Amino acid sequence: MGRHQSSAPKIVWFRRDLRLADHPALFNAAQNHPIIPVFIWAPDEEGDWPPGAASRWWLHHALTNLDKSLRGLGSCLVLRSGPTLAALKALARESGATAVYWNRRYEPAVSERDQRIEDDLRANGIDVESYNGSLLYEPWTVAKKAGGPFQVFTPFWKTCLAQDPPAAPLPAPHVLQQPAIWPRSEGLDSFSLHAHMNRAEGFCASWNPGEKEAQNQLKSFVSKSLRSYAEARDHINGDGLSRLSPHVHFGEIGPRQIWKAVEKASRGQGYSAAKDNPFLRQLGWREFSYHLLFHFPHTPQQPLRTRFKAFPWESDAAALTAWQQGQTGIPLVDAAMRQLWCEGWMPNRARMVVASYLTKNMLISWRDGAAWFWDTLVDADLANNTLGWQWTSGCGADAAPYFRIFNPINQAVKFDPDGHYIDRWIPALRKLPLPWRFKPWEAPPQVLSEAGVALGTTYPEPWVDLRFSRERALAMYRQMRQQ
Ligand SMILES: Cc1cc2nc3c(=O)[nH]c(=O)nc-3n(C[C@H](O)[C@H](O)[C@H](O)COP(=O)(O)OP(=O)(O)OC[C@H]3O[C@@H](n4cnc5c(N)ncnc54)[C@H](O)[C@@H]3O)c2cc1C
Repeated sequence: MGRHQSSAPKIVWFRRDLRLADHPALFNAAQNHPIIPVFIWAPDEEGDWPPGAASRWWLHHALTNLDKSLRGLGSCLVLRSGPTLAALKALARESGATAVYWNRRYEPAVSERDQRIEDDLRANGIDVESYNGSLLYEPWTVAKKAGGPFQVFTPFWKTCLAQDPPAAPLPAPHVLQQPAIWPRSEGLDSFSLHAHMNRAEGFCASWNPGEKEAQNQLKSFVSKSLRSYAEARDHINGDGLSRLSPHVHFGEIGPRQIWKAVEKASRGQGYSAAKDNPFLRQLGWREFSYHLLFHFPHTPQQPLRTRFKAFPWESDAAALTAWQQGQTGIPLVDAAMRQLWCEGWMPNRARMVVASYLTKNMLISWRDGAAWFWDTLVDADLANNTLGWQWTSGCGADAAPYFRIFNPINQAVKFDPDGHYIDRWIPALRKLPLPWRFKPWEAPPQVLSEAGVALGTTYPEPWVDLRFSRERALAMYRQMRQQ
C-alpha cells in the first residue's frame, strides 16, 4: 500500500453506510489523517433483529465492493468479528489509532450498544465522533408544536420541509492516507454470509450491490422514470420504481444524494417544491419510519395502537407456510410471495396486498409477516418494515383504517390489468385467459381444462374464501374497538 504518515490514524467504523461519497465520518476523519476503514461483523449485537439470509447475501457483495472502492483510493477494508467494543479497542491498540469515527444508527438495540461503546472508548482515552449519514432529519430534530413526536405523516413531513433543506452531499475523498501499521483483516468468507442462501442465482440476476450501481440506478431512474413516478408507483410489476431500497438500506447511497439529484431534475419536470414531489414524499415516509422507531422503540414487537395488544391473532402454521411459499390459491398474493422468494424484493403495492391478506384474510399476526419479510427481503429495514406491517394491519401510526382490506382480485385488475405479473411468477396459470387468471376458482371447468389448470393439483384452491374472511375480520376489528 502507498505512502505512510506519521500522525496517529483514525478508525472509520463502516456500518449502514457502505459508500465513500457523502460519508460524513469518512470525510471528517480523512482530513489530514491516516485512516483505518473497518467493518465489524457482530450480528448478535442487533437485539432480536440480526440480518436475515437475504440481507447477508447483499452485505457480502456490498463489503466486497466497498473494499474495491477503498483500494482505488490506496486503502482497503479491515474486517473483524465482534464483540465490537473489543474489536475496536484491539484495532486501536495494534495501530496506535486515537479516535473512532462513525455515522449514527437508530435501531433501539444498536443505538444503546453504540452509546456503551462510546462511553467505554472515551473512558479509555479514545476519542469518538459520530455523524448523521443516513437521514435527512434526525428523529430528535422534528417535534410537534406542542412538543413530542409525530404519529401522523402529513404534519410530520410538513414540519420537516419547513426546516432548512438538507445539506449538499459531501464529496468522496480523492485519496486516503495510509497508517504506518496496517492491522490484519479477517477473511470475508469467515463471516459465512452465504451460508443460508440457497437462491443466490435469482438474486444475482436481479441485483448488483455496491455504491457504483446505486449511483447508476439513481441516474437511470431520474432520467427515465421520475417524471411518470406518480402514476407508475402503483403498478404491480414495479416498472417505474427506483428499486433503490436495498442500496439505501445498506447506505450505498445516502438520502441527501437522492434528494439533490431528484430536486435538480424535478425543477425541469414541473414540481415547484419538495412538498409537491411524490418521490421525495416517499423518502419522507422513510424519515417518518425512523422517527417512529426512535421515539417508540417497542414497536418492532408491540403495536403502537395499544388496543391491538389484545387482538386474537390465529396461530395457524399451515396457513403461514402457504402464504410464505406463494401457495394461497390467490394469484396476486402468490405471485408477489414467489417474487419475494426469488428476488428478495417486491413493489410497495404488492407488499400492502400480501400483508393485508395475511393479517386480515388469514388473521395471522403482523409480527409473523414482518419476521418472514425480515429474512427474505434484500432491503429488510427495521424502521420501514415495522411501519409497513403496522400500517397495513391497522395497528400503527397513521395506519390504514381497520375496514380497509385490500381485495387481491380488484388490486390485480387495477394494477396488473394485463395479468403479466401473474404470468411471470405463476407459470401454471399462464394459459388461463383474463379475467380468470385473477380468480381461477371462478373459471368454468372447460376454461380451466383448456388452460391445463387442475385446481388443487397444478395450482391450489383458495386457502380462505375472500368474502367470508373479510366479513370475519371486520367483525373482529369492530369487536376490538368496542372493548
Ligand atoms: C408490509 C410492508 C413492509 C415493508 N418493508 C420494508 C422494508 O423492510 N424495507 C424498506 O426499505 N421498505 C419497506 N417497505 C416500504 C416500501 O415498500 C419499499 O421501501 C419500496 O417498495 C422499495 O422499493 P423502491 O426502492 O423501488 O421504492 P420507491 O417507490 O422508488 O421509493 C424510493 C425510496 O423511498 C423509500 N420508501 C418508499 N416507500 C416507502 C414506504 N412506504 N415506507 C418507507 N420508505 C419508503 C425507500 O427507501 C425507497 O427506496 C415496506 C412496505 C410494506 C407495506
